[in-house]
Amino acid sequence: MTSQLINVVPASDTVDSKRLRSLPTRLDGIKDVLRREYCRKHRHPWVIAYSGGKDSTLLLQLSWEVVAALDPAERRRRIVVLGNDTLVESPLVIRHLHTSLAAVKDAATRFGLPMEFQVTTPAIDQTFWVNVIGRGYIPPTRNFRWCTDRMKILPTSRLLQQIVREHGGTILLVGTRRSESQNRRRGMDRRKVSAAKLNAHSSVEGCRMFAPLADLADDDVWMVLMQRPPPWGDTHRKLISLYRQAGGGECPLVMSSEDAPSCGSSSPRFGCWTCTVVAKDRSLRGLIDSGHDEAIYLTSLYDFREWLIALREDDTNRLPVRRDGNPRRRADGSQVFGPFSLPVRREILDRLLALQKELDVSLISPAEVESIEDVWWRDEITEAGRLALQQSVADA
Ligand code: SF4
Repeated sequence: MTSQLINVVPASDTVDSKRLRSLPTRLDGIKDVLRREYCRKHRHPWVIAYSGGKDSTLLLQLSWEVVAALDPAERRRRIVVLGNDTLVESPLVIRHLHTSLAAVKDAATRFGLPMEFQVTTPAIDQTFWVNVIGRGYIPPTRNFRWCTDRMKILPTSRLLQQIVREHGGTILLVGTRRSESQNRRRGMDRRKVSAAKLNAHSSVEGCRMFAPLADLADDDVWMVLMQRPPPWGDTHRKLISLYRQAGGGECPLVMSSEDAPSCGSSSPRFGCWTCTVVAKDRSLRGLIDSGHDEAIYLTSLYDFREWLIALREDDTNRLPVRRDGNPRRRADGSQVFGPFSLPVRREILDRLLALQKELDVSLISPAEVESIEDVWWRDEITEAGRLALQQSVADA
């Protein structure tokens, strides 16, 4: 592997070429740190955060190589490979996550590695659609980003807490790197994250976080993925072409509130296809513009997302009061509108079900529809009670 990497390093002595030349040594250093951590005497399981994106793929690959090289008797600690599905993930990305996880799982069984696999999802009453269509929450904005907690942080935190309860602690391995963005760098610097040391998780007691790739650059990651096939078989070609077509990065697997700012950021990324935090979904647009095989299907999703934004921006679609029935005004006296009105919520559901039928794919589950109807039923009772109360006050 070392010689393969060296062969493609540019001959000129620029800072980048020097950095790439040192990549094999830096990778060996990362693997040494991983090995030392894994071989510690305690039994706290490793949880590897895996989104299917480039960074978590490299993290999984290096971890695999370290553990596979150990004597079977030394592979004592349990390893959980953890994905998260918001249930509104970009369709190509979630397909890649599930197919790659299946390949890793199959190979891990054959190689006798102590790996288990979990994909967390939001609680059924906290999915994107139950909040938007059921409760009428406006599709998330930068200032009202209610989704990351409910769809990513809580489901994974629950699993981490369960592992801590069973084993007394856990180590969460994440693929986060300083060079992902300025925000990421600032956050990691503030928390003094180092590639060789564990940090406390922000909200799960007993869980410590480990970011062994912290100091790798984008080029480093791509260089390894292009040069070194995954130990679970096949190549990284599909992943590389997915990035190339989308022209972007991914909405990362958010495991703590510190990770959250990069979820739904304006950089091109793979996130939820419904993500309205960004003005333009550049990765979905990129896939469509690159003439992807499924461009027609992706265009329908893209248009639906644009329609959700248009609905959100029109105040006449929203109630004049909040869900608790109280009006709210800003400091300047302007009105803050509440959730979508019930007829608008109904229209979103009707259109979504029609799109689901037309595309013949699953966009919303029957359990979500049931949960939505339950919320509507309760909202209708509350609304009727509120109006009756208003009337009796007016009559008095
Ligand atoms: S990708 Fe967008 S919609 Fe999905 S969790 Fe992140 S911010 Fe929310």
